[in-house]
Amino acid sequence: MYAHPAVQNNLNVLLSRGVTCIGPAEGELACGVTGKGRMEDPMIIFDEVSETLSGQAPWSGKKVLITAGPTYEKIDPVRFIGNYSSGKMGFALAEAAAKRGATVHLITGPVSLTTQHPNIERIDVESAQQMYDVCVRLFPQTDIGILCAAVADFSPQTTSDTKTKRGEDDLTLLLKPTKDIAATLGNSKRADQVLVGFALETDDELKNAQGKLERKNLDFIVLNSLKDKGAGFRYDTNKIRILNKDGYQFDFPLKSKQEVAEDILDTINDYLI
Ligand code: C5P
Repeated sequence: MYAHPAVQNNLNVLLSRGVTCIGPAEGELACGVTGKGRMEDPMIIFDEVSETLSGQAPWSGKKVLITAGPTYEKIDPVRFIGNYSSGKMGFALAEAAAKRGATVHLITGPVSLTTQHPNIERIDVESAQQMYDVCVRLFPQTDIGILCAAVADFSPQTTSDTKTKRGEDDLTLLLKPTKDIAATLGNSKRADQVLVGFALETDDELKNAQGKLERKNLDFIVLNSLKDKGAGFRYDTNKIRILNKDGYQFDFPLKSKQEVAEDILDTINDYLI
């Protein structure tokens, strides 16, 4: 029902009049299918209503930069190197930061998601280089950077203008490393800026995440492991551990990505106070 064009049209009319829409959440629906259309979690409804009624927007005036989704590295006009990132975690963070009153730049790779909140300015990019260029341009005016995107680590050395034809021989693809956005922003970070990265790991999780936190000069790193059921790419849920640069660790149980976004922003907020 939620996806029906009539419902979507009416919803868009309401949103264009400035109405704030809470939810819906995704999951199993009364009709038996899985998708978007469930009532939002009551705690989230309660928090949003209380925040609106109290008139407080705790992050009002703050500028937040968020990267989300995968990047596509072009091989030829019809093929690319990509990954399974859906962008759900980054989009949930953008909505949560905007609801706290922040102005959000959401720099996203190719995803099939939409944004709701008027405080979000969405900038669509395709490649790691394009994401890098936008981030480097916007970071000096940013208070908090949250780098959630699954940026490709390698890109083809050359891109063909025509479709590569199938042949009998093996095809060798030469790759070059992409620029590390997190490390570049970490290098230029001022004392008044906060930078948060993500580490999606399959093994040696803690060691790898700690290494990235230090190497990229981040303030926090959000660790999720593909070993945890329900965590990582494409799921509506995530299970995270947040490490900070002072050696503290905060563990969270499996939650919806909306709730995880609130946990991440609460952790940053505690650090800012
Ligand atoms: O790919 P890796 O595990 O090193 O990613 C860790 C963090 O670095 C993530 O926050 C990711 O968004 C960021 N990253 C980046 N630019 C890259 C690779 C990763 O900003 N080229």
